[in-house]
Amino acid sequence: MGFIKNLEQVLFPPHCLSCKKDTPEEPAAMRWLCLECHQLLIPRWQKSPYKPEIDESYYLFDYKKDGLAKKLLHALKYNFVKEAAASLAVAMEKERLNIKKINCDLIAPVPLHPKRLRERGFNQSYLIAQKIGEIIEKPVGEDILKRKHYRQPQMKIKNRNNREKNIKGVFECAKPSFAHVAGKTVLLVDDVATTGATIKECARVLKNSGAAKVLSFTLAQD
Ligand SMILES: [Zn+2]
Repeated sequence: MGFIKNLEQVLFPPHCLSCKKDTPEEPAAMRWLCLECHQLLIPRWQKSPYKPEIDESYYLFDYKKDGLAKKLLHALKYNFVKEAAASLAVAMEKERLNIKKINCDLIAPVPLHPKRLRERGFNQSYLIAQKIGEIIEKPVGEDILKRKHYRQPQMKIKNRNNREKNIKGVFECAKPSFAHVAGKTVLLVDDVATTGATIKECARVLKNSGAAKVLSFTLAQD
């Protein structure tokens, strides 16, 4: 593991994704976005149009327009740079007051399939959910939702209908969690939403399991 970590550092050494400055000695949150470039990462509290499946939806970045957020999310998801989540958490802090207004009982990150979790080593949605949980002081239930089928990533599918088909029936509410969600307001958390097919499908499963309301927070909207 140490060897692989070192190899990663050689292939993808820590540097600011914006100004390219080398940052190996910086604290985690500043390693992939230096202190100066953090000023350029500006979140905006916005609502996504996912009614009626989701009662209220929020996001902070336009995936394509906010290039820095996209770079950090890309490093997190595809280069397995877990520290990029710490940089994104700094951005979330800037919207702390709005995030604090989210009124829910518990937080459910969109789960990864165990196979993908093993490949990546962490669930990026869980890392984002942890930061939200810290701000709103609500519990994060990593095991509330499970992915029972392994499917190809939604981003590889362009057509909206095919995305819906690809994600249909993929999730289940884990049995011990039923009692937890019944009558509750659950906040779904994901990294990026495009058509919303994934979080809408998660919302359907949660409501079928008795959730009274489902809200969503995604870091970016594509
Ligand atoms: Zn920089």
